[in-house]
Amino acid sequence: MAETRPAALTSADAPTPGTAGDEIYELLRELFPICRSISGDGVRQTFELLAPYLPLMLSEVPTGTQVFDWTVPREWNIRDAWIDDGDGNRVVDFRASNLHVLGYSTPVRTKLPLAELREHLFTHPTEPDWIPFRTSYYNENWGFCLATRQLDALPDGEYEVCIDSTLEDGSISYAEAVFPGELDDEILVTTYSCHPSLANDNCSGIALLAVLGKYLADSSLRYTYRLLFSPGSIGPISWLAANEGRLDRVKHGLVASCVGDPGRPTYKQSRRGDAEIDRAVASVLRQRGDHEVRPFVPLGGDERQFNSPGIDLPVGALSRTPANEFRGYHSSADNLDLVRPDALGDSFDLYWTVFGVLERNRRFENLNPKGEPQLGKRGLYRAIAGGTSEEEALLWVLNLSDGGHDLIDISDRSGLPFETIHEASDALEAATLLQPL
Ligand code: ZN
Repeated sequence: MAETRPAALTSADAPTPGTAGDEIYELLRELFPICRSISGDGVRQTFELLAPYLPLMLSEVPTGTQVFDWTVPREWNIRDAWIDDGDGNRVVDFRASNLHVLGYSTPVRTKLPLAELREHLFTHPTEPDWIPFRTSYYNENWGFCLATRQLDALPDGEYEVCIDSTLEDGSISYAEAVFPGELDDEILVTTYSCHPSLANDNCSGIALLAVLGKYLADSSLRYTYRLLFSPGSIGPISWLAANEGRLDRVKHGLVASCVGDPGRPTYKQSRRGDAEIDRAVASVLRQRGDHEVRPFVPLGGDERQFNSPGIDLPVGALSRTPANEFRGYHSSADNLDLVRPDALGDSFDLYWTVFGVLERNRRFENLNPKGEPQLGKRGLYRAIAGGTSEEEALLWVLNLSDGGHDLIDISDRSGLPFETIHEASDALEAATLLQPL
């Protein structure tokens, strides 16, 4: 029987969390300096850096394209930006931090007094030393972001400002990699690709998906895996509009974000709340220790698009400390010191373990449902090393294999680890006491 069972990835296909964490951190460091936005060359440069890890297919959606209720905006690129104090000193300099420029700033070159310039300056509401991350995607504006202390140090007087940017017809870019399995059914894992130099909020998700892709490529898979990198909101909306006819292939999905901080894992359920992905992630988290599971709310990241009522895909969001809850969120404090290789490695292991549960999860029919089958004569009872939990698992699997429960359900109800339940189902199937449905 075992030889006819479909492929399913195992932990043997993956690196140790330590190795994966180092690999993800290394890529994250390369991604960090790039000035990304919802469009532009920074995004393309990002995808080029991912190319050695996974086979990316790039899509460009032209400015003006109607995608559901949205219109693809003009493409933004930036070369340089600064504020000069009139004595040739760059008191604010894009080259020192790309967070200094309000994202999607229109080009400007002018002189103006500090009082007028202030209308275009943004500071962090609570932390005087942090540069905030601000954008104005769909509302034309220009501006600079700086630390409150930096602003307070500027004397009155006239300043020269320059934002050497372009906002022109072009496209937004998204990229996807597909790893075919035995089934056309897909597991969709997505992340956004639109944040500049922010380490946890964005770079961590991009780097995690790239390294997951690297190891999926070498694994034998039951499901087909699709990894999608796209700019927040407009990206998933564009992808969903382009793929509307084939969305029924997506059986399970996860949005990856903020996976590099040392906080505990947090899972936000899909809109359905009881989808297989919701049960799989909850089951894995329970076995791993401290974590939080939250119900779906129509706020947050790209899960909003996948869970909109006309799409309604079973897509949850799996992060560590969620965006806007970790210290440093959307500021210069979300840097390479905030993210940790061990947290990135733990996130890799978490995703990989969830994939493993989805790969192995099945429903079975008990072929001997009238009374318990006699396990002893089949060498199953008390013959399994380790004793009671393995024996309990056999009885739980037999009892709940009535067609209405899958292995995740049985793991939940019995309180036994999914792996133990799965091993019991393997043994029972080999003894022809179970048949997969
Ligand atoms: Zn963000």
